[in-house]
Amino acid sequence: MKIANLGFPRIGRQRELKFALEKYWRGELTQAELVQVADELKRTHWQWQADAGVELIPVGDFAYYDQVLTLSATLNALPARHREKDSQGNLLPICLDTLFRVARGRAPSGHQACAAEMTKYFNTNYHYQVPELYEGQQFSIGFEQIFDEVTQAQQLGHQVKPVLLGPVSYLHLSKTLSSFDKLSLLPSLVKTYAEILQRFAAQGVTWVQLDEPVLGLDLSPQWQQAVQWSYAELNKELNSEQNGSKGNKINLLLASYYASIAHNQAWVSELPVAGLHIDLVTAPEQLSLFASKLKQDQVLSLGVINGRNVWAADLPAISTSLAKLVTELEDRAWLAPSCSLLHTPVTLETETKLAPELKAQLAFAKEKLQELKDLRVLLLGENSGRIDDLITANLSLRKLKAQAEDKAVTARVAALTKGDSERNLAYGERIKLQRASLKLPLLPTTSIGSFPQTPAIRGLRSRWRKGEITESAYQDQIRQVTQDSIKRQLDIGIDVLVHGEAERNDMVEYFGEQLAGFAFTEFAWVQSYGSRCVKPPLIYADVSRPTPMTVDITSYAQSLTSKPVKGMLTGPVTILHWSFAREDISREMIAKQIALAIRDEVVDLERAGIRIIQIDEPAFREGLPIKASDWDDYLAWAVNAFRLSASGVKDSTQIHTHMCYSEFNETIAAIAAMDADVITIETSRSHMDLLDAFEDFHYPNDIGPGVYDIHSPNTPTEDEIVALINKAATKIPVKQLWVNPDCGLKTRTWDEVEPALKNMVAATKTLRRSL
Ligand code: GLN
Ligand code: ZN
Repeated sequence: MKIANLGFPRIGRQRELKFALEKYWRGELTQAELVQVADELKRTHWQWQADAGVELIPVGDFAYYDQVLTLSATLNALPARHREKDSQGNLLPICLDTLFRVARGRAPSGHQACAAEMTKYFNTNYHYQVPELYEGQQFSIGFEQIFDEVTQAQQLGHQVKPVLLGPVSYLHLSKTLSSFDKLSLLPSLVKTYAEILQRFAAQGVTWVQLDEPVLGLDLSPQWQQAVQWSYAELNKELNSEQNGSKGNKINLLLASYYASIAHNQAWVSELPVAGLHIDLVTAPEQLSLFASKLKQDQVLSLGVINGRNVWAADLPAISTSLAKLVTELEDRAWLAPSCSLLHTPVTLETETKLAPELKAQLAFAKEKLQELKDLRVLLLGENSGRIDDLITANLSLRKLKAQAEDKAVTARVAALTKGDSERNLAYGERIKLQRASLKLPLLPTTSIGSFPQTPAIRGLRSRWRKGEITESAYQDQIRQVTQDSIKRQLDIGIDVLVHGEAERNDMVEYFGEQLAGFAFTEFAWVQSYGSRCVKPPLIYADVSRPTPMTVDITSYAQSLTSKPVKGMLTGPVTILHWSFAREDISREMIAKQIALAIRDEVVDLERAGIRIIQIDEPAFREGLPIKASDWDDYLAWAVNAFRLSASGVKDSTQIHTHMCYSEFNETIAAIAAMDADVITIETSRSHMDLLDAFEDFHYPNDIGPGVYDIHSPNTPTEDEIVALINKAATKIPVKQLWVNPDCGLKTRTWDEVEPALKNMVAATKTLRRSL
């Protein structure tokens, strides 16, 4: 029974890759030094896996920026604008800087060109570089990194299993530069994959893993045929006499993950591959289905250790559930994580501050490999001493988990009724009361919450965290910054002010640190894209809010002006999605608990005289399940959680929400069901096209479509803003419209923010005069 792994995080336990990359981009490290750091990381990670008993070390999971981007290079499919030419106009070979130019628009060498788009990889928070393909494109091998890595690992004595995203998923994730059928590119693409496999064979490789996460989608017949055709074709190539002599016979492991592929079982089981990997954490019910259809010469890789979360597995329970099957399959069963470990932090070893009871409940990437090893011990029943240890450890794990309950919280959730998620009056009636009390002009101006997090503010927070300044000195300084923000907004002439979020470094961490049930790590970083990492908090127990979190600073800001100051909170769905959540209760239940905690804050803000409260939900859409058939279920509980957080207030109190993603068509009904009095969204870069979904739906409540792009340092002109508001007004009745930037301004400087907001206010005043 092999222990298999699908991929390992590459960022390094101290984010070594991140720091090396950023230094290289800044010119503080040579390329050779960057490569040295990368090689060292690869060597360490390969060795850890070998030590844990992984026989076939995954290679090709390492990427300097993104594995999909590296694959585009391997397939010689990088956008022409990022390629360098020699003096005769011939393309120069792809090199590391070409990859960085694609991802970042620039690199230490070569010319600048607009970066390629990046987007989320399926339902994860990992972002990949979207391949750009053109009609008639021909693929070929264009980059050697993966072959070099195979050699490197072999020279260190490892047997390797190269890992690539499969041809159909690659095509599926690509975008086309003109409108044509992507599948027309499949023949050339598969031919290149076959060449890649031949190269591996010549290197002595015996297994190759091709990831086809698209198997989890509701594939159309054309795309199903594309998978069938591709694997038949690859199989034909691999078995052809002529090629067979060049090296080993390659076995293909077809890997699915993040979703059940049971709906595609009938034809997936017939694909000519040597092994199939299924995600049994997300969809355990697939096990018997695929096991019973497994062919005599096929391997089933059992994804039983969660590659998307940080909790220690219940090994005895997994062992029991697999025992019968493993006896039947013998060495045709492999034990594996559910998906690549890319989505988990590297190792618990560096965590020194976590409570031991909590640490005992965790397993990061390195520890997950050990879990696989232990699971094999349990299944094979060979080492009785170790088995006893594992059973004892599991008993204490269960006890620790049982301590997660807070009876007051569970009782409160159990007593909830439908009415708790409803405002008293319908929006049409509420808005009249709100308009009467707020007395705002037509096209009210506001901002999304944060103002520049200046080096001074960051320095202040870091001194406070280190205990170098007292709590009261810190609070005083934060008040001064807040006072300054209020003054600037009053000078600019904004109608609905914000306090500026100077006290927050991160919109989830800030609340997590004040809520019961959350814990924070020192180094549990997970790659989000390129050199960017996030460190999600852990939700390990029932959530509640011991004391008010934002009331002090918000009422202070409100005390400085008679204009309304918006309270600013992060919504329950976003807090949940951006955390590592416990798994012993449902996500719906956790969302309800967080919603109640936020609701308490909303009610306290109202009591303190705050008349407008914004509950941000930028991660609302991110939680959409992979299969459209599961959407309704998710949307129902996510909408309910938001409503629960927002519905404790009087009808005259105005609830705002904010979302900054760019695709509303599929979720507009759910967004309307959230019933926020005002929603602000990011629309400027789409030139208000994103409002079409709201227009078509006849979205009834107020909307603030972003009128300028906060990601750019450029100052929007008054005319540009006027044009955008006019465009918005062709889609949404003016009385429903608000005027605001696309998103929070914390990454900008005041030198950028002030003129931009001045132009925004001037544009609005011009329009009001003409209406
Ligand atoms: N209120 C938050 C801010 O302005 C919203 C951030 C977000 O949408 N991601 O920073
Ligand atoms: Zn936003």
